[in-house]
Amino acid sequence: MAERKQASRRLAEYKAKRNFSRTPEPSGDTSARRAAAKAKAKERFFCVQKHLASHLHYDFRLEHEGVLLSWAVPKGPSLNTKDKRLAMRVEDHPFDYGEFEGVIPEGYGAGIVLLWDKGTWEPEPGFEDVGKALQKGELKFRLNGVKLKGGWVIVRTGGRADGRTGADGQSRTWLLIKHRDEWAGAIDVVEQFPLSVKSFGNFEDILGQDTPDVWESHRPAKGGEAGAMLARIIERAQQLGPAAKPKKKQPSRAKTGKASAGGARRRSRRSAKA
Ligand code: MN
Repeated sequence: MAERKQASRRLAEYKAKRNFSRTPEPSGDTSARRAAAKAKAKERFFCVQKHLASHLHYDFRLEHEGVLLSWAVPKGPSLNTKDKRLAMRVEDHPFDYGEFEGVIPEGYGAGIVLLWDKGTWEPEPGFEDVGKALQKGELKFRLNGVKLKGGWVIVRTGGRADGRTGADGQSRTWLLIKHRDEWAGAIDVVEQFPLSVKSFGNFEDILGQDTPDVWESHRPAKGGEAGAMLARIIERAQQLGPAAKPKKKQPSRAKTGKASAGGARRRSRRSAKA
């Protein structure tokens, strides 16, 4: 249907950046259908994914027309109404991606994704035409998440001269700001509530999970900056593992003699078969 076509068009940029034979991220093939069903329920999904890639950031996503409008927020959202958090508009993501938590082994966005918050959102009165609001560069909305609630605004800033324009020719630079209400406060929400709302763990816990959704099985080990970073994180996770999770013995690494991305991959593949 129209919405489905629109969603697949909107995802062209997302797909262009990824090779789906090489990443466990959702391809979005089913997202338009699911989104259409969801639209009937009149509930719009939002999420914040804490993403440890080349730099730690928080991906803020709002469901709209079958996809997830997305901004990368380096410092994460703030409940302090005085904070204007830089939010770089990035390509729309598939609806299915919103519940994703796990590892992106290599390529674009390589790193670990933690589902930091999720819930529903709605535009404030006067902003119901979300497309128009985005075009104008100001969207006021309400969030009903686990951690983030109440009124917010995301507003475009910066000119086209900064060279960071998006596909629409507009600046990619936005600011995410909390509105003054009972859900605002001086609390540092990203510091105070760092854990996942899905697995209730941290990055190391996600890497240490026995569930198979964190890793694809057929990927060759890759070097590079992200690979080296992951190897360090995995090594740390394995060191933390026995203390953090006394119930399970960590798999032996005797064969390789060192922690490596390959070791984690083999571990995951075994789990996937179990
Ligand atoms: Mn990201």
